[in-house]
Amino acid sequence: MTVLAYIGLGSNLENPAAQLARAVAELAGLPGTTLQAQSPFYASRPVGPQDQPDFVNGAVELATTLTAHQLLDHLQSIEQAHGRERKQHWGPRTLDLDLLMYGNETIHDERLTVPHAELPGRDFVLQPLLDLNPGLTLPDGQRIQSLRRQCPDNQLRRLPAQPASH
Ligand code: ATP
Ligand code: CA
Ligand code: CA
Repeated sequence: MTVLAYIGLGSNLENPAAQLARAVAELAGLPGTTLQAQSPFYASRPVGPQDQPDFVNGAVELATTLTAHQLLDHLQSIEQAHGRERKQHWGPRTLDLDLLMYGNETIHDERLTVPHAELPGRDFVLQPLLDLNPGLTLPDGQRIQSLRRQCPDNQLRRLPAQPASH
């Protein structure tokens, strides 16, 4: 079965936009997976500790035959390959990949909460999702568009399109 999955990408260390561009290519190369669409990148103020650089965020839409848990395994290996270190909660990181949505499924277990628990309150997640799919709705029927209107403003700034890498 092929499912549409949405992945949120974030970085605020070691050339964040390049980290994201590399991660998009790596996601596109996952087994049983095709990259359907990629959002623009946005700069945003950090959540949590403020004494760290601004983040660059984006999202992608994947069509995948991987299960949600297989996908999480892959997201975590890609984070590791980008030198991600888990030190401080919500601290600076080279790459963060969150499984935002997995089809119309709701998952709650020790490893996964899907849709991602913080999705409704983060403009840097909601805006890229809207760019990918303006009609997107959560499994409970809430429209991403309405959540975006209600969301606190985190000084989101759309970045210029990335030059194609050679
Ligand atoms: P936040 O979840 O608030 O965005 P974070 O991304 O900094 O914070 P991490 O340290 O990257 O949090 O992840 C902590 C744990 O969250 C992971 O070990 C993972 O098992 C769990 N997790 C639960 N739901 C998800 C999800 N939808 N996507 C990614 N990780 C998830
Ligand atoms: Ca996150
Ligand atoms: Ca994460």
